[in-house]
Amino acid sequence: MLIVKKFGGTSVADKERIFNVARRCVEEYQKGNDVVVVLSAMGKQTDVLLDMARDINPKASKRELDMLLTTGEQTSVALMAMALNSLGVPAISLNAFQVAMHTNSVYSNSRLKSIDTERIKTELDNRKIVVITGFQGINKFDDYTTLGRGGSDTTAVALAAALHADACEIYTDVDGVFTADPRLVKNARKLNEITYDEMLDLASLGAGVLHNRSVELAKKYGVQLVVRSSLNNSEGTVVKEEVKMEKLLVSGVAVDRNVTRIAVMGLEDQPGVAFKLFNHLANHNINVDVILQSVGRDGTKDISFTVASDDADEAVEIIERHREGSLKCEKVDVEKSIAKLSIVGAGMMSHPGVASAMFEALYDENINIKMISTSEIRVTVIIDDNKVEKAINAVHNKFSLGE
Ligand code: ASP
Ligand code: MG
Repeated sequence: MLIVKKFGGTSVADKERIFNVARRCVEEYQKGNDVVVVLSAMGKQTDVLLDMARDINPKASKRELDMLLTTGEQTSVALMAMALNSLGVPAISLNAFQVAMHTNSVYSNSRLKSIDTERIKTELDNRKIVVITGFQGINKFDDYTTLGRGGSDTTAVALAAALHADACEIYTDVDGVFTADPRLVKNARKLNEITYDEMLDLASLGAGVLHNRSVELAKKYGVQLVVRSSLNNSEGTVVKEEVKMEKLLVSGVAVDRNVTRIAVMGLEDQPGVAFKLFNHLANHNINVDVILQSVGRDGTKDISFTVASDDADEAVEIIERHREGSLKCEKVDVEKSIAKLSIVGAGMMSHPGVASAMFEALYDENINIKMISTSEIRVTVIIDDNKVEKAINAVHNKFSLGE
């Protein structure tokens, strides 16, 4: 069997944890399996590097940032190979360049395009454990790129797909995927299984367990994932196409606090205004999420939307730049202290009243809803950030998700 194991930053944060991971990999290897290990940077190293960069130059180019950030993963894989060697097991570390993991040319948020598997296969044939840097790739200029924060999950899934691995295990510091973030909701329950679609919504909604593109890729290539703890042997959560159990009405409640709302007020109420606004943002690779447009009044309208907080300043700059030209408007308003709360469940499709039950739970806590958006299997609301804990617990209880 060929097994891809991915370990997050907390799982390799220090010497003791590195050896803990190394021993788990050796166990797998000694069963006769081929083992490919994908690692994140140690602990909070990526943040440390980002702080160093900001200190030197707050406007550092994304190319140089990627050059810097990829050193985090390069450190952890080299140390892991050394740890494995010291346990008497042949191992080799490889970075994105050595494997040849090609991405598009977008820095800091690139997408994997192809992976050469030859080098990896040769090393596996020589019975080595192959330890590969997560999060990074190379583009057509032979520059390093990164896949976006949390992107090591995506590296692992892409490798599992390219190598036709028999299993892809994502190890983290929690026991699996929960009905809500256990740090916010005390009685959150671990799910045994979840569908790709639900996980996709939970991942992109900020549940924080998996990088959303990793789930997209897993669905596309039919890679079954297991999310489990690196610190114990509990079973974890299986992420796959169909779950055996009856579909849950609501599988989980997710929170994303890293959101900013931008309201563009007094836009001309004319065809093409929304297109121009969002096209300008798309041209700068800024992802827009919940969108709300007001009813036109006296020839003007307001459009508000949310973006990841890291993109907010740039988004506002772009809009300001076009205010005299294609985007005439009266005012641009920014609200940072908001959060996105979502319920997700495949069973929602066939059951009315789920959204209203969620709204009632918030009403009971006197929490105001600022924006709403829905899909077939999801309801999302934007609320004040300081109400998040109260809100998530209220909604979690409303659907009796806890233990
Ligand atoms: N080290 C990167 C990050 O902190 C990638 C990852 O951990 O998946 O975002
Ligand atoms: Mg992660």
